[in-house]
Amino acid sequence: MKVGLRVDVDTFRGTRLGVPNICRLLEKYSIKASFFFSVGPDNMGRHLWRLLRPTFLMKMLRTKASSLYGWDILLKGTLWPGPLIGKRLGSIIRATTDAGHEIGLHAWDHHAWQAHIDNMDSEAIYDSLNKGVTLLTQILGKPPDCSAVPGWKSNDLVLKEKSKFPFRYNSDCRGDSVFYPVINNRELLQPQVPVTLPTYDELVGRNGITNDNYNDHLLSLMTPDRLNVLTVHAEAEGIVCEKLFDDFLSKANAREILFVPLGALLANHPPIKRAKIMAQEIPGREGWVCCQDNLLRRSTVGQ
Ligand SMILES: [Zn+2]
Repeated sequence: MKVGLRVDVDTFRGTRLGVPNICRLLEKYSIKASFFFSVGPDNMGRHLWRLLRPTFLMKMLRTKASSLYGWDILLKGTLWPGPLIGKRLGSIIRATTDAGHEIGLHAWDHHAWQAHIDNMDSEAIYDSLNKGVTLLTQILGKPPDCSAVPGWKSNDLVLKEKSKFPFRYNSDCRGDSVFYPVINNRELLQPQVPVTLPTYDELVGRNGITNDNYNDHLLSLMTPDRLNVLTVHAEAEGIVCEKLFDDFLSKANAREILFVPLGALLANHPPIKRAKIMAQEIPGREGWVCCQDNLLRRSTVGQ
């Protein structure tokens, strides 16, 4: 069974500590994955403080977020301007590509994207993507292959602006099959490789899922007759949940699960479908995420 593995990197700390840890684990199991980097200012502290509402506090207690994120992440960008991740930690991004992983753009400013995407016009969206692509191109010596928006916060404007960049594919939504997005009856040329499986913070603390049964539960959600795409986070699986992730990879290895970069799912794929994208709420996550629209008729999203 093939499973697309995607590593999202949201913060300075995740890049500096989480990425090398995840790279070491992937090397241990001979796995190549896709890494999506945030390369601009790390203002994620602002993002997390902004979310200090009762539901988010419950989630923090559930997932022990202060240990999940670390206090330095909670303060980044709140008291002083956030550091430019790509300027300071380009060597880590280069080491990741040198190790044979696929590299994509996650964000210029992860916090700003999540906070303002609903009000961003085409120009602001292009500007944010362009800053990220430009810095990542400087770091890699070539443009990134692919992209994945922060928090699955995408819309038709975003997809149109993305089509101006040389991305082989994008991974901006939740869904169940590789598809070409359709806007006003027009099909875009960049396919979407949707995430099909829930993330750690969406599962743990709900429906009896704890760290003790998390890996077995996650493995039970993967099936050979479907597209399987998993997102892990440098800040979680690369730091606080590193042992848990090591155990997960070991169990997956025993079941002969083959992890691949998302780009590898484009080859030999059954005929690619067309679909619209829609905003939808999913269990365990704050606010809306972008979903492949055929999922609206189902109740399996995010479970
Ligand atoms: Zn992210």
